[in-house]
Amino acid sequence: MVKVGVLALQGDFAEHIQVLDAMGVEALEVRLPHDLRKVDALIIPGGESTTIARLMKSFGLAQEIKSAVGEGMPTWGTCAGMIVLAREIVEDRPESLGLIDIQVRRNAFGRQVDSFEADIDVPSLGGAPFRAVFIRAPVIEGIGPGVKPLAYLSDHQVVAAQEGHVLVTSFHPELTHDQRFHSYFLKIPVGS
Ligand code: GLN
Repeated sequence: MVKVGVLALQGDFAEHIQVLDAMGVEALEVRLPHDLRKVDALIIPGGESTTIARLMKSFGLAQEIKSAVGEGMPTWGTCAGMIVLAREIVEDRPESLGLIDIQVRRNAFGRQVDSFEADIDVPSLGGAPFRAVFIRAPVIEGIGPGVKPLAYLSDHQVVAAQEGHVLVTSFHPELTHDQRFHSYFLKIPVGS
């Protein structure tokens, strides 16, 4: 059975673990490089991307995650997790891992609409629209040729995407009862 690691340095890792528990999937908190060696897949949760990036670097996890993803470990970043996985961040901060060919803008919705929910179509999930929870969310402004957009909020705002075994969502599926994104992630095969 797959064991899913959830990066547990800061942010809403506990909510991801709750969903995985409810699905009967074994989950492990990843705090140090050796934790990563025990898991088959990795989730980087929402939170504060500058803090997550800083802690990842000081705990020696940034390099370890790059190697693991380079070797094909399925990896999913939600919100701040998406920011730290991106190739480029418009604001140049924090330093990201560059593991998916997207350009991301942080806090893209400004203060007025800091947080909101929207029903979005996600054809890859099938079925009803997905209730997406956005909290000071980033959007994907630039997308490389190998990246597949999975969902849009409007014509030019991509809010979920996938490149091979790397998945990103600018919203928080772990804060809803809809487990379809977690199921989708668990079916992504190991890449190369
Ligand atoms: N605004 C946060 C950041 O830039 C992300 C917010 C979130 O993960 N909910 O890191």
